[in-house]
Amino acid sequence: MEQITDLQKLNDLCKPDSKGYIYNDFSPSETQPGMNVLHSTWCGQLRKKGYEADLSSDKYYAPDVYPLIMWLLAERGAKWKPCGACKLLPTPPSTK
Ligand SMILES: [Zn+2]
Repeated sequence: MEQITDLQKLNDLCKPDSKGYIYNDFSPSETQPGMNVLHSTWCGQLRKKGYEADLSSDKYYAPDVYPLIMWLLAERGAKWKPCGACKLLPTPPSTK
């Protein structure tokens, strides 16, 4: 579990073939709790604004999903959700 503060690092992590999970955290501002979403790093939702990912909200990275979910349950309770697009799959579903 690691907060990402470097945009280059975020973009290195958010690649279609990368592994791991990114949590998009709006909780510090409490403005958009519905936007607290956990994604797989390959998810296109992380690169919505053009191709680049951005750090307009806090982002956390973890290589494994289980410790990340345990952290979320402890720190955010029910105020987060898994992404409906990537569904936390470790790799993108085959399009073939
Ligand atoms: Zn996603």
